[in-house]
Amino acid sequence: ADFASLNLVEPLMQAVTESGYTKPTPIQAQSIPALLEGHDLLGLAQTGTGKTAAFTLPMLQRMMANRKQPQPKSMRALILTPTRELAVQINDSIKTYGRHLPLRSTVIFGGVGQMPQVNTMRRGIDLVVATPGRLLDLMNQGHITLTSVEFFVLDEADRMLDMGFIRDIKKIVGFLPARRQTLLFSATMPNDVSDLAQSLLTKPKRVEV
Ligand code: AMP
Repeated sequence: ADFASLNLVEPLMQAVTESGYTKPTPIQAQSIPALLEGHDLLGLAQTGTGKTAAFTLPMLQRMMANRKQPQPKSMRALILTPTRELAVQINDSIKTYGRHLPLRSTVIFGGVGQMPQVNTMRRGIDLVVATPGRLLDLMNQGHITLTSVEFFVLDEADRMLDMGFIRDIKKIVGFLPARRQTLLFSATMPNDVSDLAQSLLTKPKRVEV
């Protein structure tokens, strides 16, 4: 397969080309068509497989196909990751792949002052990459609401559970609109991850690389 067969819009194709990618990785070739069709996705994949582009490209495309203003303090796409380093890395990828699109993204994590994050969220933003603790913190203080979320990505689910984030994840999920597209990525599929996947996903396409 090549990128031309994936039906990506021109601004995304341009960003892909500028990144020097010539061929989609296996997870991209399998996930992008299903995600563009609106399916939920269960992805068994490690970092390094190209999974960030696999979920970011179709999400950006669907957001452009249906332009909306996110509500104040909310976002259209929420990506949850276990660590601040990963959150920053994913946000950098979103900025790279979305460089020719008028979409805004930001990152929310703990260990730093919250005021810049609160100020960025005030108007609403298209995509937010967050770690669970600080996200809940800002939600509890009334600085963030999840009422506009259309796309929810749980990245590195096995690592999140290993780090003890299950209660935080359940709380966050409880505030998500029921009508949404949900993606779960994990390098391994122990029982607790598979239970979580079952509770979060509706008729998911399963992709394993
Ligand atoms: P990820 O698994 O998303 O962290 O991506 C791992 C690395 O692969 C990143 O450095 C990407 O820039 C790179 N990458 C992603 N997709 C492709 C592709 N189709 N061709 C070549 N490199 C890629």
